[in-house]
Amino acid sequence: MVSDRQNIAAGTQQPEKFDVIIVGAGISGIGSATLLRKHCPDLSFAILEALEGHGGTWLIHKYPGTRSDSDLFTFGYGFKPWTGQPIASRDQILDYLGDAIADAGLGPSIRYGHSVTSADWSSETASWRLTVERKDADDVVEMEASFLWMCQGYYRHEKGYTPRWPGMDRFKGQIIHPQHWPEGLDLAGKNVTVIGSGATAATLIPALADRCAHVTMLQRTPTYFAAGRNADALAEELRRLDVDPTWVHEIMRRKVVRDRADLLDRAQSSPDKLKAMLIGGVQALLPAGFDVERHFTPPYRPLQQRVAFVPDGDLFKAISAGKASVVTDTISTFDDTGIVLDSGERIDADVVITATGFDMAVMGEIPFSIDGAPVNFAQTVTYRGIMFTGIPNMAWVYGYGHYSWTLRADLVAGFVCRLLDHMHKSGASSVMPVLRPEDQGMELKPWVDTDYLNPGYLLRSLDRLPRRGDTPEWQHSQDYFYESQAIPAIDLTDPVFAYNYRPVQREAAGMGHHETMRKAG
Ligand SMILES: Cc1cc2nc3c(=O)[nH]c(=O)nc-3n(C[C@H](O)[C@H](O)[C@H](O)COP(=O)(O)OP(=O)(O)OC[C@H]3O[C@@H](n4cnc5c(N)ncnc54)[C@H](O)[C@@H]3O)c2cc1C
Repeated sequence: MVSDRQNIAAGTQQPEKFDVIIVGAGISGIGSATLLRKHCPDLSFAILEALEGHGGTWLIHKYPGTRSDSDLFTFGYGFKPWTGQPIASRDQILDYLGDAIADAGLGPSIRYGHSVTSADWSSETASWRLTVERKDADDVVEMEASFLWMCQGYYRHEKGYTPRWPGMDRFKGQIIHPQHWPEGLDLAGKNVTVIGSGATAATLIPALADRCAHVTMLQRTPTYFAAGRNADALAEELRRLDVDPTWVHEIMRRKVVRDRADLLDRAQSSPDKLKAMLIGGVQALLPAGFDVERHFTPPYRPLQQRVAFVPDGDLFKAISAGKASVVTDTISTFDDTGIVLDSGERIDADVVITATGFDMAVMGEIPFSIDGAPVNFAQTVTYRGIMFTGIPNMAWVYGYGHYSWTLRADLVAGFVCRLLDHMHKSGASSVMPVLRPEDQGMELKPWVDTDYLNPGYLLRSLDRLPRRGDTPEWQHSQDYFYESQAIPAIDLTDPVFAYNYRPVQREAAGMGHHETMRKAG
């Protein structure tokens, strides 16, 4: 039998064709497909997902206590009310996403176990040709799409980021990254050290505290935390009054984004006051005499990195109960049975968990090419953090740093659907953003303003990410309030969009004109 792999090599395989291919069935891909089906019902589409199930981040991360760090009113979709407590567990999020797939009837359109391994744009056919590895058949197929909607996330899914420390090789215990949590790991009676102080560490520590002898949070730099009830008085009251869940959801979204914007304003206008408030809040939850100055006072301004929310103060309860402790120091070396610190102190450890973050994956590290010429995304300029100069018919969903990711995924979806509809109606076969005469010579800067947002994975990857310019069109603004007005108002006839109306070499030109394309789902 001739395999698809052999057919591709021989150039005899006919690729399956779609108007739109969405890469990724995480929260972004599912939301994007739902809105595509709603707003562009005539377009055929498929969602290609490398994993065997939906959820992306929420499928991959299985460590004890995995939960959201932002509320589900805004981390959930605008179109699907959230009816639970603000902070949700992994299982609750996976269920919510499963329901979203069922609500929109997306199931038949999702190809699980399909990993995109290359994407080449052909100007001749005005389409992307994708090489796709199928895990079920251990084979490779080709697929074609007029438009590519990249919902593949922002970090490497195969491997978390673990710095190399001296002596790691001689350590006789286990070293685990939370992204690769071993099934059935038994920590009973063990001394566990969690390296890191972000949201993942803050989630893991209370979840592990009752399962092991002792858990130590080893951090180089403290993080800002905000603790509170995992409940919202307004949501509770609205629900008590039997207000329709759709209304509760919308009201809560408005409240959450308004509160967040106020907090961001305060971080800029009175950082010292905000710092004192956040640290005071933590102090109140810890025993008298706890060295808050050393362990919970970050050296940077509040909100330069995400403030981790601690529902019901569980991290501080574990510390207060003596089940968890905090060490702020730097690692000198691992030895056979623990970690030696630069201060000379030593931590005994049977298991070390490296909650040290992610490696950024630019466009999923898929090799992209245009008519055979490789694309270097670092040499492109981003149009609003969604599209890229020189790259036709492609959009990327990259969410917010300080607001819930999904708020932006919803906005981007609205824009992409409008763009696809515009192309469909005008018979355009391709579009890409171009620098207009007034944009020529503008200063090009890294993807984000690192004074405003500077998590480690971004700082480590700025040289691989697209550039940003100095006007709103050429930036991912990170400002939800601005973008919630600006993105829906984008003028699709602006010269920033270079459309191509040339007939292309296939059945018909123009988005949605591919009568011969198979409709997915
Ligand atoms: C533990 C944890 C908690 C978080 N909590 C929050 C939170 O509370 N609020 C918030 O705003 N953000 C949070 N984030 C950030 C979070 O990752 C995003 O908000 C969101 O889940 C990203 O969704 P996504 O669909 O864009 O990407 P992902 O969840 O990363 O999903 C991308 C999908 O694309 C698939 N894929 C990738 N490459 C390919 C390929 N080549 N071919 C086929 N498929 C591919 C992947 O398998 C994956 O399923 C959290 C992150 C982590 C790790």
